[in-house]
Amino acid sequence: MSGTAPHPQGHKAFPTAPRPLSPEALLNEEERGRILAKSALFAPPEAKLPDGRTDLVGLSREELAAEMVAMGEKPFRAKQLWHWIYHQGERDFSRMSTIAKPFQQKLAERFVIGRPEIGTEQTSNDGTRKWLFRFRDAQQVETVYIPEDDRGSVCISTQVGCTLSCSFCHTGTQKLVRNLGAAEIVGQFMAARDSYGEWPTPKGGGEDDDGRRLSNIVVMGMGEPLYNYEAVRKALTIVMDHEGIALSRRRITLSTSGVVPVMDICGQELGVNLAVSLHAVRNDLRDVLVPLNRKYPIEELLAACRRYPGVSNARRITFEYVMLRGVNDSAAEARELARLLKDIPAKVNLIPFNPWPGNDYQTSKPETIREFSEILLAAGISSPVRRPRGRDILAACGQLKTASERERRA
Ligand code: SAH
Ligand code: SF4
Repeated sequence: MSGTAPHPQGHKAFPTAPRPLSPEALLNEEERGRILAKSALFAPPEAKLPDGRTDLVGLSREELAAEMVAMGEKPFRAKQLWHWIYHQGERDFSRMSTIAKPFQQKLAERFVIGRPEIGTEQTSNDGTRKWLFRFRDAQQVETVYIPEDDRGSVCISTQVGCTLSCSFCHTGTQKLVRNLGAAEIVGQFMAARDSYGEWPTPKGGGEDDDGRRLSNIVVMGMGEPLYNYEAVRKALTIVMDHEGIALSRRRITLSTSGVVPVMDICGQELGVNLAVSLHAVRNDLRDVLVPLNRKYPIEELLAACRRYPGVSNARRITFEYVMLRGVNDSAAEARELARLLKDIPAKVNLIPFNPWPGNDYQTSKPETIREFSEILLAAGISSPVRRPRGRDILAACGQLKTASERERRA
């Protein structure tokens, strides 16, 4: 579990890197600062209730200890609380049996252990479950649970809306309203666990099959996680802490549309699995499908993948490729993709395009997808076709969108 221990300086912005950065990554330092400053403009509201009580969820261990010290308590109280909050999933201070009654009362006067409010919950006929979660300021996001044979993934959102506007993505039609805070990100997973009654944390470190239903996290919901990196880092550090939810970094996959300067730091600090939304093999086409490509073109993106820490044949980078009929699905493009990826430990996830209202793209024909996949396979690249899940409840990749923007304007 050593690799999953929380970062010792978890609360600082970009703490000292454990390993030296490569020259290319160092070049990105300045830009990273700019991205971070911009992200702060869309900060979430303070995690406080109208009655002044503070939400303990989302605080780092250090911040929790500081709260205890501010109450005149010993820092070890933070360890006790951490266990109740993230291992037991307890939300009621009066049920924390290792804590004396008077102190339970003191805690309840000052704090809450929050969850996002459930707006709606829908279960698809294939078992996929989607929640619309509402936060204190009425902003909303969607979270999806996808059960599979050998695991279950919770797909969490990181922003309300998205600043990027990939032409095939429903979320991309919703302007960025704001970033989520760490509490709101980790809260989605905790609320999903509430829904399946999966507390306390099942035994085992999350490395092996430890019988959890909610065994994996994919950061692939609404928003671009690397444009809200600070909150994502804080939330995932909490999730990986071995005295709480204790999910191994190998069970977490973060998907990015390619925010190159932040990919380096994400690999270094979090070491989670990386998924990259590639979708095209030529810059002119990727400029249209994923407009961020104009800033970080394919060559730079692939260079960042090559230097992503910990990448090996056992831990490959996943390249997501949405199959759009007649747009990016030719055999020539499959061969070019194999060429581009030849020196990167990679697998390609072919995602049949999931339609949504008001969009004209069409899903590639099944035989086209099969042929595309076979070309990659022949080149030694595993390329599973992602089975669309929860399409009937608009829970599949790229179908998520909330009414937050509309409500804000109303
Ligand atoms: N912003 C991040 C993570 C969220 S999107 C990113 O772009 O990677 C998660 C995945 O769904 C991405 O690969 C995205 O390109 C894909 N996607 C978006 N819209 C889709 C659609 N309509 N059909 C299939 N996949 C889609
Ligand atoms: Fe944003 Fe990802 Fe959708 Fe692009 S695909 S608009 S980056 S959520």
